[in-house]
Amino acid sequence: MHILISGAGVAGPAVAFWLQRYGIETTIVERAPKLRVDGFAVDFRGSAHLAVLSRMGILDEVRAIQTNMGTQTVVSASGEPLASLPPEFMSGEVEVLRGELSALLHEHTKDHTEYIFGDHVTGLHETTSGVDVEFASGSSGRYDLVIGADGLHSGVRALTFGPESRFRRYHGYYLAGFPMDEFPGLVNAGLMYNEPGRGVAVSSNARMTDALFVFHSPDLGRVADPKRVVADAYANVGWETPRLLDEMWRTEDLYFDSISTVHLDRFSTGRVVLLGDAGYGGTCGGMGTGAAIVCAYVLAGELARADYRTAFARYESLVRSYVTGCQKGAGRAGGFLAPRTSAQIRRRDRTYKLLSKPLLTGFFNKLTTRTASAISLPDYRLPADVR
Ligand SMILES: Cc1cc2nc3c(=O)[nH]c(=O)nc-3n(C[C@H](O)[C@H](O)[C@H](O)COP(=O)(O)OP(=O)(O)OC[C@H]3O[C@@H](n4cnc5c(N)ncnc54)[C@H](O)[C@@H]3O)c2cc1C
Repeated sequence: MHILISGAGVAGPAVAFWLQRYGIETTIVERAPKLRVDGFAVDFRGSAHLAVLSRMGILDEVRAIQTNMGTQTVVSASGEPLASLPPEFMSGEVEVLRGELSALLHEHTKDHTEYIFGDHVTGLHETTSGVDVEFASGSSGRYDLVIGADGLHSGVRALTFGPESRFRRYHGYYLAGFPMDEFPGLVNAGLMYNEPGRGVAVSSNARMTDALFVFHSPDLGRVADPKRVVADAYANVGWETPRLLDEMWRTEDLYFDSISTVHLDRFSTGRVVLLGDAGYGGTCGGMGTGAAIVCAYVLAGELARADYRTAFARYESLVRSYVTGCQKGAGRAGGFLAPRTSAQIRRRDRTYKLLSKPLLTGFFNKLTTRTASAISLPDYRLPADVR
């Protein structure tokens, strides 16, 4: 069996990791010219995320690159602290940089998986015995199955299921972030400032310093000049915002996307299946990275056990309610990071204050951890793995 995986983010390399262990040949095609090591903090929380990382044998390596992020404090326009949140609220149990995680997964798969950078799928034609695939470079190939792990704006999904507009649900907010050299005086901590419908945050952890803008907006569709959109949205916003906007204009590394979730009636059609953000993503707050790791484990395990039809059906029945639960967080993220009115900002700050009381912190952590762990993981270990 030879499987083509589109996308070398997190889900693609994670599923290749398992497939190669089960003796299945894998090729990953990535649109970017090289591995994308950009992006900010992503976190793992709860038993399912940590169990899969542990079964992959990489939990210690993941812990070794964690951000060790500290408290996040909401500040007034003059920088006075208004409310603080304990680290685990935003950063889960183990927080790492997305780019460093992607690099780690690439390192663990590159010897047994063929990686093709700077190319993407332009045509998929299913036959009775496989899928004939055409690539933008003009090359072509035949594969037994195709996994679309190419993110929120998946090309494989567009080719097989239809245009993104049919599946993307916009949640009223955009998010923009970029790395910075430093933010003077900020060490292992985060600061956040709000005006109605606008949130601006800086965090500095053991691995990087970054700025993040989250703002309410109508759906802008395809955005040609994201820096202009952010600058206009924050034109009159106070605190350190003008300085951060100056930094933004200088960065070559802006991550910009809408806060959206992806919803499909089914995750596969014929020999093509979707994994990670491509099938059920959420831009932020939806535990997309943990879900991608868990679902890659399930998809590969089912493919190792049964024919692809049975495997795709089992994969979907095992993960659907889990990923739907995780996605709910993405629907709430914008309203939490950038409440739309002054009254909502005050209410959010009061909630922060309550959540920082130890008893309630524990209760809240239990709630998010419960969602992140709400799947019973089959044991796919091969006899040789059982020690
Ligand atoms: C640059 C970047 C920065 C991110 N930053 C954050 C962050 O700071 N915080 C956070 O919580 N989440 C972030 N995410 C999202 C997060 O990585 C995912 O939610 C999660 O890890 C699930 O991963 P995924 O592999 O399904 O998708 P992704 O990590 O998005 O990976 C998809 C991969 O597919 C590639 N791709 C896209 N289209 C095609 C195509 N047509 N053909 C081939 N390859 C294609 C992309 O370049 C990317 O490498 C970021 C994603 C990206 C791409």
